[in-house]
Amino acid sequence: MGLTENSPPDMNLIQVSRGHDKDGDLGLTLTTLEKAVNWARKGSLWPMTFGLACCAIEMIAAVSARYDIDRYGAGVFRASPRQSDLMIVAGTVCVRMAPVIRKIYDQMPEPRYVIAMGSCATSGNIYDSYSVVQGVDRFIPVDMYVPGCPPTPEALFDGILKLQEQIMQRRVFYTKPPEQVQA
Ligand code: SF4
Repeated sequence: MGLTENSPPDMNLIQVSRGHDKDGDLGLTLTTLEKAVNWARKGSLWPMTFGLACCAIEMIAAVSARYDIDRYGAGVFRASPRQSDLMIVAGTVCVRMAPVIRKIYDQMPEPRYVIAMGSCATSGNIYDSYSVVQGVDRFIPVDMYVPGCPPTPEALFDGILKLQEQIMQRRVFYTKPPEQVQA
């Protein structure tokens, strides 16, 4: 796990004892099933392969060897929404594209996440015209907004890391409400 005596304890991750760092033995592992599921989900994000405008070039750069998005477990871009759980909306959203994006979103399995990358996807940017949607959150729910025109790959990584923090806080298991238990 790469832990040393001086490593700060990360309360969001699986707790691993540090007694066996040298011989490779993990020792005692304590966690909740919910944290383990969230930990697996945040480290295996599969983005949908599509881009809308210039911001997509920065997204493509983020995948390159120079920036290496795989470091964050989010580098497996898929060509099908049915195999994707992360939609990065990178570019200007035209009104004619909106139903297509919504259809792709609907085809993605749960749990699914959306990052609005750049000023256009976030708010329409300077294109306050009849043909541009003033923010992709007008028709799909957005989990994380990345500002900039265009945002750098580092800014996208910041959004991904913050999304991963959000994922670690999510509930995985729900108990039935009392009225359903009685029924
Ligand atoms: S935010 Fe800027 S860089 Fe990104 S799609 Fe809009 S105009 Fe292009």
